Amino acid sequence: MAENITVALAGNPNCGKTTMFNALTGARQRVGNYPGITVERKEGSYQLNGLEVQLIDLPGTYSLTAYSLEELVARKVLVDERPDVVVDIVDATALERSLYLAVQFMELGVPLVLALNMMDEVKKKGIRINSPQISKLLQVPVVETIARRGEGKDEVMAAAVDFAGKAGSAWTPLKISYGPDIDPVLEAMTARIEAADFMTQRYPARWIALKYLEWDDKIIAAGRQTGALSKLLEQMAAKVEEVCERHYNSYPEAIIADYRYGFINSVLKQPDVLVSESRQRFDQSDKIDKVLTHRLLGPIIMFAMLYGIFQLTFAVGEYPLGWLGAFFGWLGETFTNIIPEGLLQSLVVSGIIDGVGSVMSFVPLILIMFLLVTFLEDLGYMARVAYMLDRVFRIFGLHGASVMPFIISGGLPGGCAVPGVMAARTLRSPKERLATIITAPFQVCGAKIPVFLLLVGAFFQHHQALALFFITLGAWAATLLVSRLLRWTVIRGASTPFVMELPPYRLPTLWGVLIHTWERTWQYIKKAGTIILAIAILLWAAMTFPQLPDSQVAQFEQEKQAVEQKMGAGATDAAKKELQGHLADIEARQGEAALRYSLAGRLGNAIAPVMSLAGFNWQTNIALLGGFAAKEVIVATLGTAYSLGEVDPEEAGSLSARIAADPHWTLPAVLSLIIFVLLYAPCFVTVVAMAREATWKWALFALAFNTALAYGLAVLVFQVGSMI
Ligand code: GDP
Ligand code: MG
Repeated sequence: MAENITVALAGNPNCGKTTMFNALTGARQRVGNYPGITVERKEGSYQLNGLEVQLIDLPGTYSLTAYSLEELVARKVLVDERPDVVVDIVDATALERSLYLAVQFMELGVPLVLALNMMDEVKKKGIRINSPQISKLLQVPVVETIARRGEGKDEVMAAAVDFAGKAGSAWTPLKISYGPDIDPVLEAMTARIEAADFMTQRYPARWIALKYLEWDDKIIAAGRQTGALSKLLEQMAAKVEEVCERHYNSYPEAIIADYRYGFINSVLKQPDVLVSESRQRFDQSDKIDKVLTHRLLGPIIMFAMLYGIFQLTFAVGEYPLGWLGAFFGWLGETFTNIIPEGLLQSLVVSGIIDGVGSVMSFVPLILIMFLLVTFLEDLGYMARVAYMLDRVFRIFGLHGASVMPFIISGGLPGGCAVPGVMAARTLRSPKERLATIITAPFQVCGAKIPVFLLLVGAFFQHHQALALFFITLGAWAATLLVSRLLRWTVIRGASTPFVMELPPYRLPTLWGVLIHTWERTWQYIKKAGTIILAIAILLWAAMTFPQLPDSQVAQFEQEKQAVEQKMGAGATDAAKKELQGHLADIEARQGEAALRYSLAGRLGNAIAPVMSLAGFNWQTNIALLGGFAAKEVIVATLGTAYSLGEVDPEEAGSLSARIAADPHWTLPAVLSLIIFVLLYAPCFVTVVAMAREATWKWALFALAFNTALAYGLAVLVFQVGSMI
């Protein structure tokens, strides 16, 4: 027997794989990502009689064809890493569907052990499963388990270790008959593949032939690089396709699937395999679904639920957010006192502490959001949400499951795009997920609200709520329409068919939900934290350097000293107060001068000719540049640029008045700025999150594209508005 064996856990989504993995490995697990993509890779270990078993948790899939990232990853791990045994966790309440994946493992030839999970539910339904018989018919070890209670986990591992010892490293692919039209060609193709040794080091010959018949793009692409035989195989596959089309008005892929189900049913329909003790027409889930996916009630409950999640996330999140804010405020103050005034103080307080603070301030939101979403996902409710909304979202090239990322990003004003973009993980189809990630930042996140309130306050003082309502509608329109546009152009491609079956409702375990939530949150802290800190420091530097020349600083100092002298010279209390005001004024002007002199200030000035087409002045330009650090910064930076010193976004009244008094701010200019702030580049924390969830290429695309779109619309509104 091998010293150290590797076992891969596989199965359909929701089969209980993660539950089993947690039960087996406990805390001995590591989470990472597969290189370059967001599919999670989990590994862990398990001890059996002194033998160390390495466990890999494969992504949940329904098949092994190249339909999704998960499927590709699962396949790649099997072929490249050659685990000693694959344990396929099967939802025993849905045997026919679940065994479809098992059959594909068998066709690939991997040493397979079946774990019939959810046996508690099977019993509850009054069904008896004859596992020894299934084992005999399929010729694979079969173990019954209840992952939720950890029942059968040791038996599964014992079976796996035992089987690994017997099977050795040889793979023995299962041969299924695919009927008179496909079989002969399949044989011919297999023979040619074997003769040419065409990719056979990696895959079984018959399996390669099958993938050609199923038009698996990844295998065909690899084949084309391997040799000329690919061309012939493609021709053979095309011919079969033609024949199938003529005979059955069907195509090989569908026929292959039919025969696989035929094979499964030939096992399951044996008289002694499944015995139903009572004939329950509707099980529990069907009853619940009568209400939850009801034509009228369903959507109402769904929106209430989404609204509830949103409220909970941000209402509960407010507390830890406040504590974190207070803590970082205290930390900043402490360091302001410890370090003498100057560059070092500014770097530590404004650069590092503020930067880390901004990273950490998202953690409570992400944690709570994932807690609720993971719960609903494991419960089986997210699949219903996706199911209900799919028809609407499909019109825009999106998926029903896109709704959650949108709402969390600020589809209900006050969200945040960072957890929003991360929530897009629930989408399985890569194209819809990408479109969702790129457009989610258009929503009205909490940090944009003060900007809107400021602008609205300056011009339509009494209609703030109404204005915010229209801005939110605009955000939704932008999200949906731009998605449609993207899906017609750069993210073109047919929609992924909605294959997700509605899994039965199951109450998840607290432990499972907690582990899952923590893994996702920790990944954010670890990976994003480092990059975000670096960018925060860069942005700080851009707003600090170059510093005002000494001569100018000296001038301000002189002015200040003059005022201070007057204060020292025994002024009355009232006069002192006025002098203090003078002092603050001078400091504010110094702040403005320093900001103008900095790289960011110069940039703001440099882009003035371009931005003036949209009606923005240099103060706005700097504020918008600062808004890339965090949208909250826009109001504060406007304050500095308007020589008001530090402006608390919550109390922007004075700034509102200052802006309203500035003749520059006409109605078209304000509308143009609102549109620009709504749509332009997401803040850099979001950009980093996007890069993590998609790729840097797409994150940078979103940065450029969203800004260009915002600019185009802003110019349009300003120019047309100014003409009227
Ligand atoms: P995965 O998608 O395959 O990783 O599935 P999970 O491990 O997240 O499990 C999906 C749901 O099924 C969760 O709510 C689990 O608590 C539940 N579950 C897992 N195993 C069992 C089981 O043996 N019996 C029952 N009744 N529920 C289970
Ligand atoms: Mg899972």
